[in-house]
Amino acid sequence: MAESTRAPDVSPSRAALMFPTLTSTQIARIAAHGSTRQVSAGEVLFEPGVQVVPFFVVTTAELEIVRPSGDAETMVAVEGPGAFTGEANLLHGRPSFMRARVSKPGEVVELTREQLIGLIQTDAEISEIVMRAFIYRRVELIAEGLGDAVLVGSTHSAATLRIKEFLTRNGHPFAYLDLDRDADVQDLLDRFHVAAADIPVLICRGDVVLRNPTNQSIADCLGYNDTIDRTHVRDVLIVGAGPAGLAAAVYGASEGLDVLVVESNAPGGQAGLSSRIENYLGFPTGVSGQELAGRALAQAEKFGAEILVAKGATQLTCDRQPYAVQLDDGPRIAARTVVIATGAEYRRPSIPNLSRFEGAGVYYSATFMESQLCGGDEVIVVGGGNSAGQAAVFLSQSAKRVHMLVRSADLAESMSRYLIRRIEETPSIVLRTCTEIVALEGDAHLESVQWRNNRDGTVDSHDIRHVFLMTGAVPNTAWLRGCVALDPKGFVKTGSDVTRDELAAARWPVARPPHLLETTLRGVFAVGDVRGGNIKRVASAVGEGSIAISFVHRVLAES
Ligand SMILES: Cc1cc2nc3c(=O)[nH]c(=O)nc-3n(C[C@H](O)[C@H](O)[C@H](O)COP(=O)(O)OP(=O)(O)OC[C@H]3O[C@@H](n4cnc5c(N)ncnc54)[C@H](O)[C@@H]3O)c2cc1C
Repeated sequence: MAESTRAPDVSPSRAALMFPTLTSTQIARIAAHGSTRQVSAGEVLFEPGVQVVPFFVVTTAELEIVRPSGDAETMVAVEGPGAFTGEANLLHGRPSFMRARVSKPGEVVELTREQLIGLIQTDAEISEIVMRAFIYRRVELIAEGLGDAVLVGSTHSAATLRIKEFLTRNGHPFAYLDLDRDADVQDLLDRFHVAAADIPVLICRGDVVLRNPTNQSIADCLGYNDTIDRTHVRDVLIVGAGPAGLAAAVYGASEGLDVLVVESNAPGGQAGLSSRIENYLGFPTGVSGQELAGRALAQAEKFGAEILVAKGATQLTCDRQPYAVQLDDGPRIAARTVVIATGAEYRRPSIPNLSRFEGAGVYYSATFMESQLCGGDEVIVVGGGNSAGQAAVFLSQSAKRVHMLVRSADLAESMSRYLIRRIEETPSIVLRTCTEIVALEGDAHLESVQWRNNRDGTVDSHDIRHVFLMTGAVPNTAWLRGCVALDPKGFVKTGSDVTRDELAAARWPVARPPHLLETTLRGVFAVGDVRGGNIKRVASAVGEGSIAISFVHRVLAES
């Protein structure tokens, strides 16, 4: 079968990755999971906005994949024999962005989403072809901003940055219009009767206008969670979709467990905030946290794990079995076992005016998005750990100068040697030891920063508009409210760290001691950064997430 798909404006090498051609043997294997049907010219196979669309493989017909906008249509691809429809949303169970219409009559193979998931779990060769195409198609949609969301915002607004981060970290393609730079924006706002004071605005699925929406309402409008059943009792409920939670989801689902993950923001956790992780096994040239999270999410979903996004756990009901986790939008989800993977979040140092400038000059992550906001300006990075070192090195590629402020006298104790060497070898990074920020000043945006040299007590003021705070983290355990024993710093105690007295106080119900990673509640595990004694690395989070699942099996077998 020659060229099966024609996609306008895509290079041949890229098109080959996005639109591979299946052989007749492969098509026959796929057909065994679904059904074949005749289609006639002009027939619409699916429309944008439909929550779960089928998966089609073309045998003898031809399909046009188009993106409708009002009365107009943009041609995305023409798919002939050997081609197949779909992209990442089909896997996520989220609404389609496209319309598929038959341009030449003939035969297609049709699979439901469940049949497709069954196929990719059992046929490694087809799984690789389909998964790779779905991921490349999504990458292209993101690059072209071809989704079902238009964000109208301003570079100077913290809420705009929050929404951009939320959509980006969820891998959602969107178009961005900047009120300060884009001349056509006013027309669009008038069309939807939006006043400039309502900015940022998200135009969702073409017609719903959300004014300064919360992440939760964006997730609801874009249909992120609509297909997920919250009523049945899960084998394992994983709270948090950072590296630890995603690893637990991949191993749990791949080993046949009924897995639900609950994530208060977007998959990826702290790792998703990193521009480049260089010490994670298997990625010699480094990998961005976003890329790692996107792949892990696709892998978890491929094995059948379900992920509720922008839904935070507010309480664990631990006085009865099955356990239940209360979500911030109301319902409780029941599960026989729970994996706590809520990680940690950045400590906010006590600097006057800090909250006023968060997102408007003060940032807690250093990804491509924040670096764009800084242009070629001078920036400050605060902190002496690996994340601060990474941020300084990354920002030095675009910033005029990076001032690295640390309270200690050197970096040796807190940072990996490879990063210290990079910092020393980068002329545009100025390391300022024994130094801390004492004041932030500005109006709508940060304009200047005062720092103090603690050796001699001198305070200097600098016209610097961007500060990256990377000063350690505190565990996200407030939602556990006394259900499990915590160490003095608030991290969850597990395994042999749990004392006899703590077990007695928790009325530990079985003769055996807690498993490795098991808390003072039988069948409730803690993994990753939230766990006391954990080494704060992506690899240890991933390791613990996967190990916990083997103990989940043992607990399920006990009951
Ligand atoms: C900027 C940066 C760079 C880093 N670089 C590296 C590196 O190069 N190499 C390395 O090994 N490590 C690095 N780290 C450390 C590494 O990212 C962490 O150790 C790792 O992410 C911990 O994973 P985790 O899954 O345990 O927790 P987290 O990554 O913190 O994920 C926890 C998740 O739980 C969610 N959550 C929290 N509370 C709730 C709730 N109540 N309900 C539902 N969900 C909730 C959060 O939104 C989050 O998504 C870096 C960290 C940062 C911040």
